[in-house]
Parts: sequence; C-alpha cells; structure tokens
Amino acid sequence: MLYDIAIIGGGPAGYTAAELAGRRGLSVVLFEKNALGGVCLNEGCIPTKTLLYSAKTYQSAKDAAKYGISCNEVAFDFAKMMARKNKVVRKLVAGIRSKMTAANVEVVIGEATCDTTAAMPQISCNGNDYQAKKLMLCIGSETAVPPIAGLDATDYWTSREALQANELPESLTIIGGGVIGIEFAAFFNTLGCRVTVVEMLDEILGGMDKELSALLRTELSKRGIVFHLSTKVTAVKDRQITIEKDGETQLIESSRILLSVGRRPIVKGLKVNEFMQTENPNVYACGDITGYSMLAHTAVREAEIAVGHILGASEKMSYRAIPAVVYTSPEIAGVGKTEETLQKEGIAYIVKQLPMSYSGRFVAENELANGVCKILESTDGKILGVHLLGNPASELVVIAAMAIEKEWSSEDLKSIVFPHPTVGEIIKETL
Ligand SMILES: Cc1cc2nc3c(=O)[nH]c(=O)nc-3n(C[C@H](O)[C@H](O)[C@H](O)COP(=O)(O)OP(=O)(O)OC[C@H]3O[C@@H](n4cnc5c(N)ncnc54)[C@H](O)[C@@H]3O)c2cc1C
Repeated sequence: MLYDIAIIGGGPAGYTAAELAGRRGLSVVLFEKNALGGVCLNEGCIPTKTLLYSAKTYQSAKDAAKYGISCNEVAFDFAKMMARKNKVVRKLVAGIRSKMTAANVEVVIGEATCDTTAAMPQISCNGNDYQAKKLMLCIGSETAVPPIAGLDATDYWTSREALQANELPESLTIIGGGVIGIEFAAFFNTLGCRVTVVEMLDEILGGMDKELSALLRTELSKRGIVFHLSTKVTAVKDRQITIEKDGETQLIESSRILLSVGRRPIVKGLKVNEFMQTENPNVYACGDITGYSMLAHTAVREAEIAVGHILGASEKMSYRAIPAVVYTSPEIAGVGKTEETLQKEGIAYIVKQLPMSYSGRFVAENELANGVCKILESTDGKILGVHLLGNPASELVVIAAMAIEKEWSSEDLKSIVFPHPTVGEIIKETL
C-alpha cells in the first residue's frame, strides 16, 4: 500500500502529526520502537510532573499549619508515589493509542529504518517495506553524555533511571543545573535527600531570566540544596565526584549521581525550512530532532505546521513565543526575550517589574512567599518578554505567549478584562 504519510516516532511530534493527518482523511502509518507518547509521556514531562506534584502535596501538608490546618504525622510513601506515576503514564499512553485508532492511524511497533534521499520515501520495519508520498521524522533526542573521566565505569543515573528509582537515595549529586536537573533537585530535596547541584555556568537554568533564576536558586538553597556554580565535574569514581572551580579541586561524596547536562537530537545537523521540510521536500522533521527548543509544545506546533503544509497551507513555524517552564514550587516561567538576549542583540528595552504580592490571590494562597512578574517592553510599547516566579507561573505564561506571538502592545493586553481575584492580574498590574 502507498500511504499519504509515514511517520517515524510516536512522541508529541509524531502522534500529533498522525492524529491531525488521519482526521483530515490522509492514510497514515506511524512507527514507534518503544511506547507511544515518546519521551514526553513515558520518561519526561508527564512522569516528572506527576512526581513533583506528589512532592508539592507532601510539602503543602507539612506547611498546612500556616493556613490554620493541623496535619499530624505527615509522611510519604516513595513506592506509592512511583506507582501512581506509572499509573498516570499508562493512562495517558492508552489515551494516545485511542486517539490513533479514532484517527484511523496504522500504528506499527518496531524500529523503522528509511532512505531519506529517495523522492518516494521507503521505510522498513519488522522485515516489511512501506512506501509513502511524504515522510516525517519525529525520532526525538537522547541524553547528552559529556567526556568526564571515569563516567563510563560508573553506575550513574540519567533522568530515565531517576524516574525508575526503587528507593530514595540518602544523597544525590546532580551534574547540570538546567531545567531537568533543577526539577529533580527540587523533587529529591523535598523528600529529604541531600542534594548537590554542579553547574558549569555562573547561574542555573541557562536561557531563563537570570535574575529570576538566581531568586529561585536562593529559595532552593534555603531548603538545603547545595549549588556549585561556575564549576566543572572533572572525574567520577564510584560515589566520588571531583569538581573544579578556578583551578581548585574538591571531592564530593554522594550515594547517587544524576547526569543531566542536556539532550541532543538523535540525528545531528538535520536542517529544516519554515514548513519543517528537510532538503528532500518530501521528508519533514519535527520535534527534538530539529534541535531548536527540545520542548514538547514546540514539537506539537512543528507537527501542526508540517501537516498543514502537506495539506496545502502556507503557515510558517514561529519560534517567537515558545514558553519555558520549570515546575519547581515556586514555578518559574518565561516567554519571549530575556534581558540577556536583548542586551546581546543590542535591542533597547524597558523593564516593568512587580512583586507577586501585588496580587491579592497570590497573597491569599502563598503564606510567607513572594515572587516576581517582570515584563520587558520595546521603547514603542511592544511586549518583548515576560518572566514570572511564583505559582502558578506555568499557567500565567500562556497569556504572555499570546500577547508576544500576536505582537500585542502593553495597551492591547491592558484592554483585556482579567478575572478577579486571580494571580494572572499581576500581569495587567505590572504593565
Ligand atoms: C526528564 C524530562 C523532563 C521533560 N520535561 C518536559 C516538560 O516539562 N515540558 C516540555 O515541554 N518538555 C519536557 N521534556 C522534553 C520533551 O520530553 C521533549 O521535548 C519531547 O518528548 C519531544 O518530542 P518528540 O516527539 O520530538 O520526541 P520524543 O518524545 O523523544 O519521541 C520520539 C520517539 O521516536 C521513537 N523512535 C526513535 N527512533 C525510532 C525508529 N527508528 N523507529 C521507530 N521509533 C523510533 C522513540 O522511541 C520515541 O518514542 C522533558 C524531557 C525529559 C527527558
């Protein structure tokens, strides 16, 4: 059979493309070598957020007295947390499977190989050959492993193993203070594990607003996480980690090591145009494989653009307003330009900033906590970037993403009526 579209990879990019194309009446075959849902559902976004929610609930119970509630003997059950995480993953993966069935997508479980240079893409899987008019490569990314002496011979965790942990380690050293590293740091720290984070850069969460990242780091330090910034891990042996800062070395002992220095596309150097087409116009690539933002929501949008293009639309992919979120508590989220990127690009800007305590709802729900809403505006009033520290930043950032994507001015956004009392009002107040 000649399919309209063959898709390799069943993560957010692949399953979104498959569902959209199937619902539009195209014949679609989707190849997945592990589990539908990809990294995001099985070992990324969903399991981490499920565990972080357990940790947040535990912390809320411990803090309940601040809100006039007594909770005696607050305790957690690590095995139950993990079991619930697995249940959530299973439920969502089953949901993707049903969506594929409803959209008439043929799902083939197996590792696919393909010739991406042929005008009519050829795919092989499980000893069978498939032909399609269009091919979409949605095969994702993998954990980057830096050349650290002794790492090969060490039993270290990546995010995958950390999510399968059978028991809480007594101490954990995380190599890399990016989003994934910091989310794991927050999770394990909340449960009482001694956490150390070693970051090569001078601040955690590279790419996020630096001022807000520093505030989050200060908060996490107060809770006991030890940070080593501008510090390199030079060697690892058993449970010992050698770190180096300004030419001085130090030894850290830790019962577990989590390597979290980033992810890299499975295929290097793949180039796509604004419709997600590779050099072969019949072959598209979407998601982490493109290496652009390595986020599930970007993967979904890229898949929408690619399928739209195959169906004859001319909408182009825009990376102007890709929100980034760190799901710690407090959350930190940002969209658009940061002060650091604006300065690098030589763009003049105005900073408008307010503490979250200007929002009545925030004060009502966050005893003894504060946060920040920072809005960066061009000199002619366009919103260039919005950065938030405080719960629920992950939800509020969507308002900002809409304004930035649609190139609204502050006046445009101010003309919208925000419900009261909501934490989102802080955005209107800051403008
Ligand atoms: C711990 C962790 C936490 C994360 N948290 C977030 C978050 O909170 N928010 C967010 O936006 N992003 C998060 N991410 C990133 C997110 O998971 C990825 O951006 C997203 O999964 C990318 O989707 P994708 O479709 O490009 O690739 P993937 O989800 O990686 O899917 C690719 C699929 O292709 C399959 N595949 C590969 N090769 C073949 C082959 N030859 N044949 C058949 N199948 C193949 C793989 O098995 C895989 O299932 C997180 C990642 C990790 C690791």
